[in-house]
Amino acid sequence: MIYDYDVVVIGAGPIGGYLSRKLSENGHSVLLIEEHAEIGRPFQCAGLVNPGAMSKVNLENTALTRIWGARLHSPSGTSIEIGDPGITRTWSVCRKLFDEQVIIQSVKSGTDLWLSSNPLSAEIKKDCVDLLISYNGTERKVRTKLLCGADGAHSWVRRNFKMGRPKEMMIGLQIEVTGYKSEEGRLELFTGNNISPGFFSWAIPSGETTRIGVWSKPQLLGDKSCEYFLEQLMNNSPWKERFSECKEVGRFCGPVPSGILKKPMIERVALFGDAAGICKPTTGGGIGPGFKQVDILVPLLTKAIIDNDLSKSKMTKMALSLNEMKRNHRRKKALRDAFLTEVSEDELDVIFDIWSRPEVIELINEIGDIENPIPLGMKMLKDVPEFRKYAKKAAMAILWG
Ligand SMILES: Cc1cc2nc3c(=O)[nH]c(=O)nc-3n(C[C@H](O)[C@H](O)[C@H](O)COP(=O)(O)OP(=O)(O)OC[C@H]3O[C@@H](n4cnc5c(N)ncnc54)[C@H](O)[C@@H]3O)c2cc1C
Repeated sequence: MIYDYDVVVIGAGPIGGYLSRKLSENGHSVLLIEEHAEIGRPFQCAGLVNPGAMSKVNLENTALTRIWGARLHSPSGTSIEIGDPGITRTWSVCRKLFDEQVIIQSVKSGTDLWLSSNPLSAEIKKDCVDLLISYNGTERKVRTKLLCGADGAHSWVRRNFKMGRPKEMMIGLQIEVTGYKSEEGRLELFTGNNISPGFFSWAIPSGETTRIGVWSKPQLLGDKSCEYFLEQLMNNSPWKERFSECKEVGRFCGPVPSGILKKPMIERVALFGDAAGICKPTTGGGIGPGFKQVDILVPLLTKAIIDNDLSKSKMTKMALSLNEMKRNHRRKKALRDAFLTEVSEDELDVIFDIWSRPEVIELINEIGDIENPIPLGMKMLKDVPEFRKYAKKAAMAILWG
């Protein structure tokens, strides 16, 4: 059988770009398909890339601000400052530049990129996947060994092959403003049911501007929208003064799919990144976990592509290697629910009072990592007696999840 490509990847976002680069570097022929005419537009992202993910692509040059600290606000206005200017916690990047550079790395490693293109049909056969692709307005047939969907939260590949839905689909709204009074390198998180039910709002320094956003679950919004809660934050909250001179220069809205699919891999088809529901339940971050998923699966897929064994049983077996990530997600969600989503504002205020104690702040600074809150959660359960009653559910999930 003659193949046009070993692998076709749908979606030239950061995960499709990183995936296609890794596959090309391993010697496979790869075609990357993007429906837009340019990379990185439109984007829906607060632009935070953690140091672990950044080290995989070395794109610090796309960063607008190095983030070293955070100021967390309780519903009634208690503030906690954490961080150390000497330690980089995360990077606030220009997503357009970041995505472009990830794709350039992929093309340099040998990937073919088709812009203004999208799949029209895909059929799994015994030894291949046959695709019909709209390429700049013309139809092209492409035969491949493996089809990868890295085509975002509303993945065409996932829907076409009826591969299920992520467990949670949060919604985020963000505006980019000038005139916010922030401290260089310190992001802010705001909590409270009248500004971000069950979740938090943020203000993230990004060079000359600040990204201000809200995220939550649709079922917690009631009959209100994210716009309503963002308005509340900026005009009717204990922090409204900070926003008084803000001028909006951009607005983005998008879904945050979280809860890895039960079956992200079927015969000759695999889903990656948002398409597979990989975003973190605690932060909504999808770039770090998406890169991690690629690093876990590409070595396994490489052998399978060479052997051309991408059968249902082989793919199901490979998908088991994501179980640790799934378990980790479940634990993080349990922590989030116990400390944030399923507590009342009064309970949240009490939690903040405990967090604001110097010895607890010291603990947070020492081992706190918003990307990986489990070690801190465990330590707090052990060392801070008052946490035990609030964290009963979380403790169960951490221990048994
Ligand atoms: C408000 C908000 C803030 C966020 N903040 C952060 C953050 O700070 N840090 C972080 O890590 N994550 C954040 N996220 C999540 C992050 O944006 C995503 O997890 C990340 O972009 C996922 O990358 P991806 O490559 O899987 O998908 P995407 O970035 O969605 O890329 C998918 C690509 O596929 C293309 N595509 C889609 N369908 C087709 C098709 N049929 N044919 C061809 N091409 C197609 C799209 O055009 C797009 O280029 C945020 C999300 C939201 C909504």
